[in-house]
Amino acid sequence: MPKFLIALLCLSSMLYACKTQPNVKVQTSERITYYTPSARNVEIDENLIPAPTLSEFWSVEDVDVSARENKKKHVAFTFDDAPTRRLPELMSVFLEFNENNPDCKASATIFFNGVNLNEYTLPYVKKAYEIGLELGNHTYSHCDLRKLATFELDREISLVDEFLQKIDGNPLHLLRAPYGAVDDSVRAAAKTPILDWSVDTLDWTGISAEEICQKTLDGLEQGGIVLFHDGAKNTVQAIRMLLPILKEKNYQAVSISQLSKIHTCPLRIGGLYTRARPKK
Ligand SMILES: [Zn+2]
Repeated sequence: MPKFLIALLCLSSMLYACKTQPNVKVQTSERITYYTPSARNVEIDENLIPAPTLSEFWSVEDVDVSARENKKKHVAFTFDDAPTRRLPELMSVFLEFNENNPDCKASATIFFNGVNLNEYTLPYVKKAYEIGLELGNHTYSHCDLRKLATFELDREISLVDEFLQKIDGNPLHLLRAPYGAVDDSVRAAAKTPILDWSVDTLDWTGISAEEICQKTLDGLEQGGIVLFHDGAKNTVQAIRMLLPILKEKNYQAVSISQLSKIHTCPLRIGGLYTRARPKK
């Protein structure tokens, strides 16, 4: 076969490979980015790039951000393994701070475990919703979701959603996986975004309120997500100290959904996020 014919065949098969290479959709932990094949001189059919639809994202349309302070930076506060007997005191810290600081009202997302939900703790959950805290799902029994069969995984999530729906009317709630243990099966089962954190305060280890404060301040950043536990011994005291310090540093503590809305940072269903940074 003539050399030029071989070269032509090679070239045409290369072009064919480029044309048939699928568009790759990559989701990072913070931003959704669409990559197309970098095939020079090859016509790309734009229709092949899937356009995100509204239903692929967590809706923040109805999220109240009226307490948002425009000039401030925003960070999300989150509390896991709720509710515990310390939640009422934690809520009173938020209430008192908000009463005295109407220009910097604080909020948070509280992630509940089904095993902790019962007739005694139900009033705590109701109160959390009433004072404007966001209700989140931390699964029923706080096990490693990666080790579960699909039907068990679905049950771990849906039981908590059903309970919380009775309080806030929402059929779905942001998911925080126990231990931050997430794999493809967990992402596939999630009907909401999954929230990790950018700052782990390690409050559950029993460190002092001052140490919890310091860890929060060390990792403080615009769009960050801070992990606390409402049942940890010194967390309530740490929050009491932190809210005024944050205000002084020109920060406002908000819930995850508020953070997403304020920063125009859409959270994809099944996506795993450690932050929700402002759109540049
Ligand atoms: Zn937990």
